[in-house]
Amino acid sequence: NEVFDFPRSDPIDQTSGTPDPSVKVVVRIRPKTVNEKLGDPTIKKVGEDSVAVGDRKFSFDSVLDSTSKQEDVFKLVGVPLIKDALAGYNASILSYGQTGSGKTYTMWGPPSAMVEGQSASYQQGIVPRIFQTLFSEIKREKDNAVDKQINYQCRCSFLEIYNGQIGDLLDPTQRNLQIKDDAKNGFFIENLTEEYVTSYDDVTHILIKGLSSRRIGATSTNSRSSRSHIVFTCIIESWCKETLSNSFSSSKTSRITLVDLAGVERSKQVDGAREFERERKDVKRSLSHLGHLVNILAGGTQPDDAMYRDSCLTHLLQQSLGGNAKLSVICTVSPDIKDYGETLSILRFGHIIRSVQNKPVVNEITEEDMDGLTDQIRQLKEELIRAK
Ligand code: ADP
Ligand code: MG
Repeated sequence: NEVFDFPRSDPIDQTSGTPDPSVKVVVRIRPKTVNEKLGDPTIKKVGEDSVAVGDRKFSFDSVLDSTSKQEDVFKLVGVPLIKDALAGYNASILSYGQTGSGKTYTMWGPPSAMVEGQSASYQQGIVPRIFQTLFSEIKREKDNAVDKQINYQCRCSFLEIYNGQIGDLLDPTQRNLQIKDDAKNGFFIENLTEEYVTSYDDVTHILIKGLSSRRIGATSTNSRSSRSHIVFTCIIESWCKETLSNSFSSSKTSRITLVDLAGVERSKQVDGAREFERERKDVKRSLSHLGHLVNILAGGTQPDDAMYRDSCLTHLLQQSLGGNAKLSVICTVSPDIKDYGETLSILRFGHIIRSVQNKPVVNEITEEDMDGLTDQIRQLKEELIRAK
């Protein structure tokens, strides 16, 4: 039962001199399966942050080779996310890759590995690891507070985008939910289940329930592959009270968005069944819209709202892509020669999204802001009374 020792007294940005990029891209190479032939791997890690595919070389923020462990991904991507989220930043992780390249393994790991104290816990994915450490950090921060009382409230939702519709993974009867505008948070999803969580157990309960409701398709090779994008969201609100004066001092909000995308599929793969044709096309359409949007952002232009709203996926990711959030992209790739074409296209996507600039800010309301708001409310009340 390995529990990562969270660095105790590090400041939030622990980088030495180099600024923390708002968008970070990590490549993870999956180990070969028994069926994949021995021989030279198609993709090779060359140096800390580069890979070579054939005669092409790509650089990223980090590259994890096929010997990497779940814990390595957590240290690289999960620990910074926890720090950011507790500091009041929105933070997102996007896993992008071909079907069978390890997106789901990297994000969640097998459900059995989420149960604490299990021998399989080394397989625990990045998401359960994040919440395990997040709650221990929250507890530590509360316990260590001097002269003030820190309160946290976390709420989670889990949804799926399947055939262009949003389905609630925590209430599978809700299959076509609508995205609505919200002045404060940008958007919200009408009727989506939100559950308050106070512990790692609460979160794993939601994860296991949601993952078992995810829609999958059957491929010709008889393997189970994901035909939907799934999005796990946790909104953390914290506020601080001075114990002596009992006065409010500050409040922070952050949105954690964790996305396991549907597989980037081979263009000529045949399912044999017509019912899968529609979902395959839909996955392709939403991923190519994502690629298109990322291309525009990488070119230094901000796409307009309409472009984000063209597809559910980019609408939900509006802040994560070019907006108010820190973003980590995990590109998972296969080491096998048969996947050469897909691997190359996934690395290209990773390379392009690296140039996207996000604009993360700490979502904080201070005492002064509150005083300002209180003043505004008083003025409005007076106007109302006068108008009567
Ligand atoms: P995807 O979600 O991208 O379609 P999966 O996560 O389902 O792919 O991975 C496909 C198979 O490969 C699964 O059986 C998974 O357990 C295994 N796998 C993927 N990545 C790794 C890894 N880094 N180490 C060990 N097994 C892995
Ligand atoms: Mg998957």
